[in-house]
Amino acid sequence: MSEIRAISHHIGGEYWSGQSDRTGDVYNPATGKITGKVDFASVSVIDHAVDVATRAQQEWRNASIAKRVQVLFAFREIVNARKEEIAKLITAEHGKVLSDALGEVTRGLEVVEFACGIPHLLKGSYSESASTSIDVYSMRQPLGVCAIISPFNFPAMVPMWFFPIAIAAGNAVIIKPSEKDPSPVNLIAEFWKEAGLPDGVFNVVHGDKVAVDRLLEHPGIASISFVGSTPIARYIYEVGTKNGKRVQALGGAKNHMLVLPDADLDLAADAAVNAGFGSAGERCMAISALVAVEPVADALIEKISNRMSSLKTGDGTQGSDMGPLVTAVHRDKVASYVDAGVREGATLVVDGRNPDVNGAAEGFWLGPTLFDHVTPDMSIYTDEIFGPVLSVIRVQSYDDGLALINRHQYGNGTAIFTNDGGAARRFQNEVQVGMIGINVPIPVPTAYYSFGGWKNSLFGDTHAHGTEGVHFFTRGKVVTSRWLDPSHGGINLGFPQNR
Ligand code: NAD
Repeated sequence: MSEIRAISHHIGGEYWSGQSDRTGDVYNPATGKITGKVDFASVSVIDHAVDVATRAQQEWRNASIAKRVQVLFAFREIVNARKEEIAKLITAEHGKVLSDALGEVTRGLEVVEFACGIPHLLKGSYSESASTSIDVYSMRQPLGVCAIISPFNFPAMVPMWFFPIAIAAGNAVIIKPSEKDPSPVNLIAEFWKEAGLPDGVFNVVHGDKVAVDRLLEHPGIASISFVGSTPIARYIYEVGTKNGKRVQALGGAKNHMLVLPDADLDLAADAAVNAGFGSAGERCMAISALVAVEPVADALIEKISNRMSSLKTGDGTQGSDMGPLVTAVHRDKVASYVDAGVREGATLVVDGRNPDVNGAAEGFWLGPTLFDHVTPDMSIYTDEIFGPVLSVIRVQSYDDGLALINRHQYGNGTAIFTNDGGAARRFQNEVQVGMIGINVPIPVPTAYYSFGGWKNSLFGDTHAHGTEGVHFFTRGKVVTSRWLDPSHGGINLGFPQNR
């Protein structure tokens, strides 16, 4: 029997040595076997982590910017040199194929590189002689201890959207990764220590609602950065803000790809397959609704199903195109949506329910699935499925397609495929979605722009990383200063005016 690893919290620069009352099972989704037991944090473990982080932050906030940046550069070098190790852990617990896992780490590294520029990003402004002999200047200071609560689907990249900037700005962080794939963040904690980050600035606690609720109510937590499903994101935003915390809560998605009649259909078909089935559709920017403006639907569906027939589903370490789903429960939920689509009258063009796989029979498999003639009232259209299920909705015009997208409750990402620059320009102006691709199917912004959706895809007004990230993890101060000179003094009870 293979070994079951114990996975625990990493607090104050070391693994927690206490006994946990509760643990969770961690699976290898490609074998269906339990490979780890992860400790679930109690209230007292969270309180301990907050104490440790608070003490560490008092010193870290006063470390020079030069010192903080040296640590960030060292961390960047270590992650870059050892990214395969992180990728292997991701594939082992999440199931996505190795090349995709590596891509996730590389995208996360972009944010570390962005945060290495924090000296420039933290610069304040200075107005000499704003009033006679009075200078005014601004600065941005860290918040304190920042909590990050992340989802299963990007166990390394999503935490990396936040912590490089939070740490560079002088905060301490406590991360609660998904209990489904907890190991990559622990390895990242080891890398921070090796990079010279003082103990207690980066802490990892594992667990479930108990840990999250304590983070939400603990007075020592200044901010919450959450990414996950919409019902939990809404809850986090409501409770966190009620408790006086700064909150950014990114939620679920249903990303539409609008294909106009003048589009290059081969490019569009490639994009639909890559963005629909990459990472088994478990991406918040996956394309799950393909809106075909007639007369392109028949030709497009033929091209897509041809491409799907060559996709290899299997173990992510064995050169497959698409891995398993994360858990058996999630696989069954996605399969139940396929059943519902058939029941509700959509045309099942490719059925992934009994796939040929290169992997163990007990793995959590579901093959790529394609529906045609999907209508806006069907659950496969209204709900986020988060699996390898692509739905084609036929519309008669650009306006019908746009109206459909704008009516949906989610507004994370979208894409338009066309060779008409005017149509693309109109779309970027009119569509109510946060991130837009023009002939680009997964428009995840580069690190120096900010990532975030509209409507039920984001609660709070600050997106992740880029300058919005710097703003989120700092707060402003403005200083009005006068140094004594012979003209000072005198009583005047009037409101200060610039002279
Ligand atoms: P999830 O909401 O189940 O879990 C996210 C986090 O919340 C995990 O750390 C989990 O432990 C915690 N959690 C779960 N239930 C909770 C509860 N009742 N109370 C408090 N905390 C709880 O999400 P998931 O299944 O891990 O991830 C998939 C979801 O994340 C999808 O909806 C996807 O669209 C979304 N997502 C969104 C983005 C984005 O940028 N908008 C990015 C990645 C993933």
